[in-house]
Amino acid sequence: MVHSRLSAQLDDLARRDLLRARHVLEGPQGPRIVIDGREFLAFCSNDYLGLANHPRINAATIEAVRRFGVGAGASPLVTGHNALHQSVEEKLAAFTGLPRALHFPSGYQANIGAITSLAGRGDAVFSDQLNHASLIDGMRLSRAEVVPYAHCDTDALGRSLAASGAKHKLVATDSVFSMDGDIAPLPAILALCERHDAWLLVDDAHGFGVLGTKGRGALEHFGLASPRIVYVGTLGKAAGVSGAFVAGQEEVVETLLQHARTYMFSTAAPALLAAAVEESLAVMRDEAWRRAHLAALIATLKAGLAGSAARLAPSDTAIQPLIVGANAAALALAESLRARGILAPAIRPPTVPEGTARLRISLSAAHSIDDVGQLVKALRDELPSSACM
Ligand code: PMP
Repeated sequence: MVHSRLSAQLDDLARRDLLRARHVLEGPQGPRIVIDGREFLAFCSNDYLGLANHPRINAATIEAVRRFGVGAGASPLVTGHNALHQSVEEKLAAFTGLPRALHFPSGYQANIGAITSLAGRGDAVFSDQLNHASLIDGMRLSRAEVVPYAHCDTDALGRSLAASGAKHKLVATDSVFSMDGDIAPLPAILALCERHDAWLLVDDAHGFGVLGTKGRGALEHFGLASPRIVYVGTLGKAAGVSGAFVAGQEEVVETLLQHARTYMFSTAAPALLAAAVEESLAVMRDEAWRRAHLAALIATLKAGLAGSAARLAPSDTAIQPLIVGANAAALALAESLRARGILAPAIRPPTVPEGTARLRISLSAAHSIDDVGQLVKALRDELPSSACM
């Protein structure tokens, strides 16, 4: 029976502590969330700047609904692209300092659309081993040869680029790795792309809004500019909204507009989201204190856990992983925090490599220093009794 095969697979996941379940939030995203009527102090979201429920962004969104309704009603190349989408694309290009931007309903679609438009059969795509699933799926769909390289290992990448006889080459990397929080060595990677005439696709999902003094992302952080950079920013994380964009040279963006199937064959995002993003960019500019406060929270967490059994992975970003090792141990630690009213998600394979299950602690400018103090105390209390690698 078809069903019994699925039941057996699900039972197997449960036996290996890999079964996932969703929480049902009873209110907005924020440092305190309500689940089953109980309030938790949460370190789980990608809402790094605390903009997911910001009054200015909420108001701009409601105003956009008044003017443009809810549904875009068509794909962008038919009649789904309106003045709000057009305007946010211009604002995103200006914000990132790149010639042109294309707005997508999600980062997943943006990455798949960008890679499949720029690489095909006979080409090669070079991929950091810890890249996000959406980049990996884009590579698979592109039919290009996929050449993985060890995490952030520019020597290995250089050797693979030199050995490749592919027609066109594309290097794709997360800027901030989503489950590790470390930052790719983009200047060295760009230098290799220049030497070997390759495109560089930077997925700045976790850098856009937070890296750089103005929050313009990984390119600002490193002071990088090059016509071979194809930049992907997502808008559901620090920007607090939803969606994504691909920015780069005029020809790159026009190529995506003409060829990216995830763009062409999908209904345009509701324009209210474009209006929300436009206001979010203004808030990011006006409320620079959010980035400074986030940096203070990161420093507080690291200092608070220094010398304890809770060893954080090396990361200077809002993503602070605490590697535990075994799936069951990561779940047990998350559960013990939950019993104290604190949520930090246990991340297990296949999201992370086997044997590296972890708590993915993420900080938000909406947290207070005292919130982080509570997390530090709970981890210090819980960890001596938990198995930690
Ligand atoms: N890239 C990275 C590195 C991500 O972490 C994510 C989302 N978790 C995405 C892309 C996909 O973005 P979206 O959620 O907008 O589909």
